[in-house]
Amino acid sequence: MDFIYADVNATHPCSKEHLMQVWDMLQPNQGNPSSIHPLGRRARLLVERSRRSIAECIGAQAREIFFTSCATESNNWVLQAVCARPFFEKRPKLLISAGEHSSIRVPAAALEKKGLCEVVSIGLQRNGQVDEEALLAQVDQNCVGIFLIHTHNETGVVNDVESLAIEAKKRNPDVWFHIDAVQSLGKVELRSLGGSFIDSVSFSAHKIGGLQGVGCLYKKEGRMLSPLLLGGGQERALRSGTQNVAGIVSFGLRAAHVLHHPDWLGSAKLATQRFQRRLQKMPHARIHVSLTETVGTVTFFCLEGIPRERLLVAFEQAGICVSAGSACGSGTPVPNPTLLAMGIDAWAATHSVRVSFGEANREAEADRMADIVEKAVFAVK
Ligand code: PLP
Repeated sequence: MDFIYADVNATHPCSKEHLMQVWDMLQPNQGNPSSIHPLGRRARLLVERSRRSIAECIGAQAREIFFTSCATESNNWVLQAVCARPFFEKRPKLLISAGEHSSIRVPAAALEKKGLCEVVSIGLQRNGQVDEEALLAQVDQNCVGIFLIHTHNETGVVNDVESLAIEAKKRNPDVWFHIDAVQSLGKVELRSLGGSFIDSVSFSAHKIGGLQGVGCLYKKEGRMLSPLLLGGGQERALRSGTQNVAGIVSFGLRAAHVLHHPDWLGSAKLATQRFQRRLQKMPHARIHVSLTETVGTVTFFCLEGIPRERLLVAFEQAGICVSAGSACGSGTPVPNPTLLAMGIDAWAATHSVRVSFGEANREAEADRMADIVEKAVFAVK
């Protein structure tokens, strides 16, 4: 069966051409980047080249980029390190948004449970952005960290993090401002991040067509963060463990690709427009965020009165891969917390499906998918 892959926000597939490029670069340089012999030094050069490529995407210096195993690690690292700073009389307060990815939400809740901080979750507006006024109202002297998603993985909505960081620092210059920009790289202009008031940023290679299992953290020069992993002192002693050289080479190549091909998602955007135009003609279809409010490659929708399972089965039978959202342990769908926080009713929040397109998707695929949605609607009429 030929699959249509429409779950790019979960992972953007790697092309064979890219894998061959990684192999060509890696094959003659397979040392440990910490070894001092020539092959070690050559592996080290590859790692440093990738570090520069990623830094260039965000207008940062290469030494501000630290490789990790994934964005989940980067997010956990900053959360734990911010809570580990000495706060004498304060009861440290962390601000997160109600739309955070689980790699922020879950560790923040765990830190709160251990009594290390208080976590305040800030609501979302109907358009999916964080409620900026409510967020800024919480920034006081006890507030030690703000953790915000930049581009949302489900809605595709972008928070105005740079101006929020300026405003937050006016209220408390010491607050740590972290963003999760995993879904922003290659979709949103990021070249001013390096000079902004943002202290740290998480990224992941597999969201831009690189290998899975490698991420990085941008940390502003001069801002101190204790390491999560101790050992061999790699990554300037902030992230011990032998670097994943293949993954890092892949990350660097893809970062250069998205930077130098600003229209790399052009066909994904056309496919998304086509899919949404078709949905808009179906009376049952409800798209949660209008395309103009998003990065243009994702559709989060439900079919009024038609359980999500019906659509998922129809997609599955046709070999179409989409995101079903979260299910609880028993497999029963649970309402999506981001949609609930946007004020969307519980039924729609439980029965929505995410379609996300990438570099290889074409309008014909969007049409085939829309045909399947139409059939699913027709079957229940
Ligand atoms: N943050 C966001 C917004 C994501 O979409 C993802 C991936 O789903 C992550 C963090 C976690 O990234 P990784 O798979 O590299 O741990």
